[in-house]
Amino acid sequence: MLWKNREQSSNVEDRRGMSSGGKLGVGGGIGGIIIALIYMFIGGGDMGQVIDSVQSASQNQTATEQYKPSAQEEELATFSKVVMKDLETVWSKLFTQDGKQYEYPKLVLFSGTVTSACGRAGSSTGPFYCTGDNKVYIDLSFFQELKAKFNAPGDFAMAYVLAHEVGHHVQNILGISQQVMRLRDQVSEKEYNQYMVRLELQADYFAGVWAHYAEKMNILEPGDIEEAMGAASAVGDDRLQKQYQGYVVPDSFTHGTSEQRSRWFMKGFKSGDMNGGDTFNARSI
Ligand SMILES: [Zn+2]
Repeated sequence: MLWKNREQSSNVEDRRGMSSGGKLGVGGGIGGIIIALIYMFIGGGDMGQVIDSVQSASQNQTATEQYKPSAQEEELATFSKVVMKDLETVWSKLFTQDGKQYEYPKLVLFSGTVTSACGRAGSSTGPFYCTGDNKVYIDLSFFQELKAKFNAPGDFAMAYVLAHEVGHHVQNILGISQQVMRLRDQVSEKEYNQYMVRLELQADYFAGVWAHYAEKMNILEPGDIEEAMGAASAVGDDRLQKQYQGYVVPDSFTHGTSEQRSRWFMKGFKSGDMNGGDTFNARSI
C-alpha cells in the first residue's frame, strides 16, 4: 500500500505508556451503566460477549512514565493513522451518497492494558471495537503478531485489520449491532453465535468495500489484496481453533471460517456496494 507522506487521521488517541486505573465491572458510577458490545478481531475467550454494567473509566488512565516507542513502532502508528484517514474518506463519502450521516470513529493506540467503555482489555485481546464509545483499540504489537504468529505479513494485512474494526463501527452507526445485541437474551447460545458470525462476516465485507475504493484511489500495490485475504483467512475460527486447541467446534464459531472470511472480504472488494453485504438474510454464508 502506498501510505508514506500521506495525510493522517487526527481522530487518534495515543494512550501508549498509560496505565489503566479505575474500577472495572462496577455499574452505576458517574458514567452510568453502559451496555456495550466489544468486537474482537480474533475469536476465543469470553470477551466477545456483551459486557454490561461497566463503568466508563477511560478518563482514569494516567501517564506513568515517558513512553518511548521504537522507530519501527512509530512507523506502524503513522501507517495506522493514514489508513484511518483513508477509511474516513471512503466511509463518509459512501454514507453521504446513501443520504446518511457518518460519524468518525476514534483510533486508540495503547500498550499493555487499556480501559474502554466496554471494560478493560489487554494486548492479548487483540484489536477490538467498542460500541459504547465508538473507538477502535489497538496495541501496535499486534501487527508483529499478525506477521509472526498468524503468518499474515504485509502492510495491507494490517490495513485489513483496521478496516474490519471500522466495519464494526459502520454496523454500529447503522444500528445493526444493536439489533443483534437485542437477540442475545432471546435465542440460545448456539443461535447467538451464528448471528455473531454473520456480524463478523459483514465487517469483513465492509473491509472489502473499503479496499474497493482504496484501489480506485490508486494507493494499492500488487499483492495487497492477497495480503488482506491471507489475514482474513488466518483469523478464521476453524484455523484458530485448530491451531490453539487442536480441534474444531463449529457451534462455537463467532467469527466465521477462513474460507467465509476471505470470501466475504472479496465480495465487498468486488462490488464496492455498502448495501450489498446483507449476511443476515443470505441463505448460506
Ligand atoms: Zn470483528
